[in-house]
Amino acid sequence: MKKRFIYADNAATTAVSDEVISAVMHCMKNVYGNPSSLYDRGTEAQRLLINSRERIAGCIGALPNEIYFTSGGSESDNWAIKGAAHAQEKKGKKHIITSQFEHHAVLRSCESLEKQGFEVTYLPVYKNGIVQPKDVANAIRPDTALVTIMYANNEIGTIQPIEEIAAICHDKGIWFHTDAVQAVGHININVHEQHIDMLSLSGHKFHAPKGIGLLYIRRGIAIPNLIDGGAQERGKRAGTENLPYIVGLATAIESACRDIEQKNEKTAALRDRLTEKVLKIDRSYYNGDARQRLAGNANYCFEGIEGEGLLLRLNLDGISASSGSACTSGSLDPSHVLLSLGVPKEVAQGSLRITIDENFTEDDIDYMADRITNTVAYLRGFSHTWDTVQNEEKYPGK
Ligand SMILES: *Cc1c(COP(=O)(O)O)cnc(C)c1O
Repeated sequence: MKKRFIYADNAATTAVSDEVISAVMHCMKNVYGNPSSLYDRGTEAQRLLINSRERIAGCIGALPNEIYFTSGGSESDNWAIKGAAHAQEKKGKKHIITSQFEHHAVLRSCESLEKQGFEVTYLPVYKNGIVQPKDVANAIRPDTALVTIMYANNEIGTIQPIEEIAAICHDKGIWFHTDAVQAVGHININVHEQHIDMLSLSGHKFHAPKGIGLLYIRRGIAIPNLIDGGAQERGKRAGTENLPYIVGLATAIESACRDIEQKNEKTAALRDRLTEKVLKIDRSYYNGDARQRLAGNANYCFEGIEGEGLLLRLNLDGISASSGSACTSGSLDPSHVLLSLGVPKEVAQGSLRITIDENFTEDDIDYMADRITNTVAYLRGFSHTWDTVQNEEKYPGK
């Protein structure tokens, strides 16, 4: 097969789209005033800021004054979790509920709170990678300050029953935050209808630039300011607004939230075509629920090989993929997400995440399937673990 160049790591980041680049450039060149200034150039910028905030809020069913712009997902997660914890601490509430397979921005925030005397319950996600709402209900205590569960997992793409979990929290009067960085643009979200109190999103996961995101905070939820200073973001996160990127975020989120169902249908069909071919490989496994997952996510394990070796060889074939999350690569530790599903350490080491979108073609998919199949066989050809593993019982994962 002729070599192709395929970017199949859209969960790590996405390319900035042409329409977003145009919107950002137009703003940089023409609307450079400070939105807080009173002359025309300032009010023009202020108008554009208000307009962008309204468009963005509309895409997630929030009110414009519930949107707080941040530098992205990590900042929003940190602010939501640490902010909620410290706001509730005064009422004697020092317990947080989350799941074992959250993004590190959430897990590390929780660990930092544990060092300050908070208690954290890490709920199991079972073999299918889905948090059970009844586990959330059972974990809630009188001193629970916050429940934070991600909308969709960044490694295995499994979609969590957010509506049910949020309803449980709402009934019990407990604040609910969701890291929706992977979900926005792939799932229709309405924060008010779904009783979500706080939500993190990040532009670079749906074709906006890196370094812009937001935290939605429902009216009435009072968390401490993140940055003290000027009156920007209702005084909660001071600093002159990054208007070009906010305009880019508005353009990107509107585009991402358009025709979600049609795009998902096309993407899922391509993803399933890949999975059908890849799972023909001996001792290969599909990680996470096959249906309740993001349309563009496929995550496999291959026994007897190292994910790193696979990635390097796929790179030579022009394929950009990942073996988990971009954040954990570089370390040889197996993914905490795969371990939380009960995947044995040795199996988890041979993982591959492919994240595609609706612009892929069947030829792209067939090329990837061909290269993956060949490369796994090639690597197993001189793998000692493969020699021994073949005589062992299979990991019951298929
Ligand atoms: C990418 C990602 C983040 C981090 O977002 P940044 O904007 O890169 O800080 C957080 N959570 C999830 C689920 C992600 O996929």
